[in-house]
Amino acid sequence: MKRSMHLVLLLCLVLVLTISGCSKPEQAASSDGAAPAARQFVTIGTGGVTGVYYPTGGAISKMVNNQSDTYNLKVTVESTGGSVYNVNGIMSGDLEFGIVQSDRQYQAYYGTDEWEGKPQEGLRAVFSIHPESISLLAADDAQIETFTDLIGKVVNIGNPGSGQRGNAIDAFSAFGIDVDNDINAQGLQAAESASALQDGQIDAYFYTVGHPNGSFKEATAGARKAHFVDITGPAVDALIEKLPFYANSVIAIKDYPNASNTQDVKTFGVKATLCTSAAVSDEIVYAITREVFENFEEFKTLHPAYANLQKEDLLAGLSAPIHDGAMKYYQEVGLK
Ligand code: GLU
Repeated sequence: MKRSMHLVLLLCLVLVLTISGCSKPEQAASSDGAAPAARQFVTIGTGGVTGVYYPTGGAISKMVNNQSDTYNLKVTVESTGGSVYNVNGIMSGDLEFGIVQSDRQYQAYYGTDEWEGKPQEGLRAVFSIHPESISLLAADDAQIETFTDLIGKVVNIGNPGSGQRGNAIDAFSAFGIDVDNDINAQGLQAAESASALQDGQIDAYFYTVGHPNGSFKEATAGARKAHFVDITGPAVDALIEKLPFYANSVIAIKDYPNASNTQDVKTFGVKATLCTSAAVSDEIVYAITREVFENFEEFKTLHPAYANLQKEDLLAGLSAPIHDGAMKYYQEVGLK
């Protein structure tokens, strides 16, 4: 097994142990001598460890855990298979929060795609976070210069719980390419993609993700040279026209000095959003919302993908109703 895989497995193990070690309610210290209330623990579902969701979960939890005693609340972070997994985890009660692509939030709430005929009416939006691009990285030796060059190639379109899998399928269908017959589609986890490209197991991979991120840094730093492929043209324009959650997007190539591209990459994108369930208490959702907004300048320093964020952007791109606890904060500060 590759060293990088060992590292990923080790990280996952540490994470699982951390989370399971935290699952028992602990008695919070009480300064006034009153009976201590049980501290509450909540978990945010994120994505693969080399993406942006995982450090984003870490950034949110840091903001809240700085005030753990104020709220009697501790936030932990779990690495997961991505957006679809997170929606389903929130709805089953396995997760209290999850980071979810804006398109997946829309589909889950209105009952389309993975949730066809099963609208997730209890899904609630908290806020939007960073923009994500539908990103396609190809090995230079695989001769993939344009999107249609993917025909006949081995392409990781993402694991079934991921957000990118649906975006890749949308892009293929926009270009009239049959995912089942025209390409050799793989369903690897996002954290496996970079080493799979370097090892020659795949020719290219999709990842719907903020930039810069560890996955593409790793994939462009290896011996097998790689480049991003534009996803543009009339087919993509029509897709954006048809599906309101998609918008044009650009990947700044300065983020990846080792990629073979010489120009910024044109593609389309969505937004990362924080979601929860109507069943999660107003107090907990209020605490998380308040701490991220009140410490927004510090929050923004925690990942370069947040560089251009404005507070107002955090309320755009939400399809599910805003959770009452978040709304209470937005009304208090005049954002709603
Ligand atoms: N957008 C990806 C997904 O929903 C995850 C990206 C990330 O982990 O940063 O599966």
